[in-house]
Amino acid sequence: METFEINGLQLTLQKQGETRYSKVSYPLRYGRYAELRTPAHLFQFNLNGELKFITGRGRDWPNPSEWLKRTVTGDWVYYSAGGYDGPFDCFGEYYIPCFSYPTNNINSCDPFEEKAVVSAIEAAGLLHEELARLDLAFLSAEGRKFLELVKANPPAELLRKAATISEILGDSVSVLPPDTRHVDYEVIPLIVADGCLYKCGFCRVKSRLKFKERSKENIERQIKRLRDFFGNDLANYNSVFFGQHDALHSDPELIEFAARRAFEAFDLKNSNIADPRLFLFGSVDSLLKSNGATFDRIDRLPFTTYINVGLESADRETLGRLKKSITAEGVEAAFAKIADINKRYERIEITSNFVFGPGLPVGHMESVLRLIQKHFDRPSPKGAVYFSPFFDAGDSLWKKNIKREFYKLKIKIPVPSFLYLIQRL
Ligand code: SF4
Repeated sequence: METFEINGLQLTLQKQGETRYSKVSYPLRYGRYAELRTPAHLFQFNLNGELKFITGRGRDWPNPSEWLKRTVTGDWVYYSAGGYDGPFDCFGEYYIPCFSYPTNNINSCDPFEEKAVVSAIEAAGLLHEELARLDLAFLSAEGRKFLELVKANPPAELLRKAATISEILGDSVSVLPPDTRHVDYEVIPLIVADGCLYKCGFCRVKSRLKFKERSKENIERQIKRLRDFFGNDLANYNSVFFGQHDALHSDPELIEFAARRAFEAFDLKNSNIADPRLFLFGSVDSLLKSNGATFDRIDRLPFTTYINVGLESADRETLGRLKKSITAEGVEAAFAKIADINKRYERIEITSNFVFGPGLPVGHMESVLRLIQKHFDRPSPKGAVYFSPFFDAGDSLWKKNIKREFYKLKIKIPVPSFLYLIQRL
């Protein structure tokens, strides 16, 4: 680690963050990074010299332990500590991500309306001009090289880069599985199959494309371009997300091919962060058609694998209301299989989602609780169940009371259960 002072700015290179993701109630950085401390802000950069985090240092910053993160697609996400009642029981994390785009967010506050947060983003936009005015001659070669990298990545360049990721993938990633919270949503995306099977009426994130596997050549092409896209910062990733909405429906041989190629090409064995993870979505049909040989194959991959399955409800009337073309019997069978796989495979966790909101038929929540309690008569640490807030703009009272409603439900469920906030790449 090397630190320099330049005109009241403090630059620190090669900072070593944590090497394993963990859940803590204070700001923690992972992998290697650099930071620039100005009187008003702390800017943190990835290994490509691209701005990644900002924390305000002034008294007007909402909370000293909160920060802004810029995602690879150029979104700003604000990490809120959640006030006095802490978010851990609801979300399984100590921070609530607040998005700068519309989603099923249940938080009533909008940090992007806070003056200090807006100013921090504006200050990031001006940082390059400030750096351009500095005389860097007395810095070490390493310090100069890093600041040149930062200067080569002004906001317009970051936006241009962010736009290329959907071009590389051939589609945009509108939703990440809830399990990616375990790695703070820091995943390398790779599309193994487009679209999904059902095109449900209620879904706001579905791809316009029909389900179709990508060819091995296409996957190889994506991997090669992703390696260039992530560049030096690839070393700070330990996880891959297989898009899009039902990668589990792909041929198991293709899943294994993509996983092993990604692991090798992204050099995850030597990542700065331990415990490689693979995330994907499944569905009732893909889960029921997958046999033991498929899961044996996934279990042997050099990843711990998380598969998230959208079940939504075990009630026929609710499934009809959601316009989801699966049956309550299919959901029952899928849930039984999820419980069985979670018991049998140490390196695979299958999680499930159900909708949660006002105005759903009374049979909905009864069916979900019956299903869960039938398969779990004692607490189990595996097989988290996520509840996706599902409400209209007019349901503001329900939105205000959602945590209370959720806690009433949570105490009846013997597996980890959380609210699912939809987050895109
Ligand atoms: S809920 Fe899942 S299966 Fe249904 S349309 Fe959305 S992405 Fe497709």
